[in-house]
Amino acid sequence: MLLRAMLRRCPNCGSRGIFAGYVALRERCPQCGLRLHRGESDYFIGAYLLNLVAVELLFAALLATIFVATYPETPWALLQWGGLVLMLAGAVLCYPFSKAIWLAAELKTSTWLVVWISRFPVSGATTL
Ligand SMILES: [Zn+2]
Repeated sequence: MLLRAMLRRCPNCGSRGIFAGYVALRERCPQCGLRLHRGESDYFIGAYLLNLVAVELLFAALLATIFVATYPETPWALLQWGGLVLMLAGAVLCYPFSKAIWLAAELKTSTWLVVWISRFPVSGATTL
């Protein structure tokens, strides 16, 4: 499921075409009908956070690698301006992947939750 999302595919069925553009998701998956718009305006805030953390970690790893490889002649100007460009480009380029991964994480956790709730039924609760 996570691998499908990392390839910008539907986390449920793995089909392509869940994006109407580079970033915009379609209303539903064209293959399985999974609702991609979850009806909450703040649903993808987690995807923003995931994207930010992933790009920051990649940048930190790259910065450390360049620093260690070039010490003591570290190219600080290149790191400063190159890092800025990479951070901005990385945030834009990685965002659709973050959205698909966020959908996969929500799908997986909701599946676990349904299984867990079904194992421990609450007496007197009504089913939907
Ligand atoms: Zn699908």
